[in-house]
Amino acid sequence: MGRNPKLRIRLSKVQDNASKVVDLCKGSKIEVGGVAKGVCGNVSVARAMVDGGCSFLADSRIQNIINLKKENLNIPFMLLRLPMPSEIDEIVSLVNFSLVSMTEVVKLIDEACRIQNFYHDVIVMVDVGDLREGIWPSESEIENMAKTLKGCQRVRCMGVGTNVGCFGGVLPSPENLDKLVQVGRELEELLGYKLEIYSGGGTSSLALVEKGIMPLGINQLRVGEAILLGSDVTGRRSIPYLHRDTMVLEAEVIELGRKPSVPIGAVGADAFGNVPTFVDKGVRLRGILAIGKQDVRLEGISPLQEGVYVLGASSDHIILDLEELAGEITIGSTISFKVDYGAMLAATTSPYVKVVIEER
Ligand SMILES: *Cc1c(COP(=O)(O)O)cnc(C)c1O
Repeated sequence: MGRNPKLRIRLSKVQDNASKVVDLCKGSKIEVGGVAKGVCGNVSVARAMVDGGCSFLADSRIQNIINLKKENLNIPFMLLRLPMPSEIDEIVSLVNFSLVSMTEVVKLIDEACRIQNFYHDVIVMVDVGDLREGIWPSESEIENMAKTLKGCQRVRCMGVGTNVGCFGGVLPSPENLDKLVQVGRELEELLGYKLEIYSGGGTSSLALVEKGIMPLGINQLRVGEAILLGSDVTGRRSIPYLHRDTMVLEAEVIELGRKPSVPIGAVGADAFGNVPTFVDKGVRLRGILAIGKQDVRLEGISPLQEGVYVLGASSDHIILDLEELAGEITIGSTISFKVDYGAMLAATTSPYVKVVIEER
């Protein structure tokens, strides 16, 4: 049995998703990196991504990369988040390539390489409109970055990349990704050498590959959500050719009984400062689960059984309405949920949720 709550991950489905994404992209001469940050850099999941054909692994946290490096996966690692100056010494010794947008940071990387006798590859991020990271694609910012890179002895510019659908929710399009290609060509011109990598985003960019409208030149994607969950939250879709039942969250019932559906007494605020509202449905069967907001994102879970409704949660409890549940339920039963990206992220990060790998 083992400790609850659990997140059960079906590894064969994750691997199959990875190989389907890799095959799709191969048709457009695009390599795929597997992004493991959504499962807190889980080693088994990362291995399934590699076995599925991903050509590198990527994570936003250096701690996850350090952990994965112990596994002899024999694959390059990319740091997805822009480096903190304080972690650059570690980055140059542990990571194969990082994403950069600041000239100051490029200089710091070059200096750290000189001291430690390393060389380091960077991908210059370009903001094509989502307003998260990246240089602005203006003449002066491109020239400035090129000048800095040319002044480096040990930093090599491997390519350009962009991120869409994250902060601004901007969808990838042939137009904004073509902008990335143009910026890359300008950089090549200024640097005097070819860039190997044109990295065109993550899961949301797969739609362009499927439709055959990915701009020529884009030759890399960094994919997490599609492989892990078979969904594309930015594009608001399930990806039909991928498994969506890759993981299940299970939590245990610790109280079960009939109670009124409206609280009794003067109502102040709940544990998180919100004033709750209730609909009077009379006396109903309710259950309490031993899992809470500390472990999961409430909006991101959906019960897998019919007749289970999430009423709310506090830090350590989720309250359910079970009146319409057809099956048997007792104290100690578990209730299963599907998770979205945010709920998966929280669950795998919580030390209280046990990740159970269901083997291939
Ligand atoms: C998280 C992240 C990705 C992966 O995004 P998905 O939508 O999960 O595919 C790619 N690139 C960067 C820079 C990221 O931070």
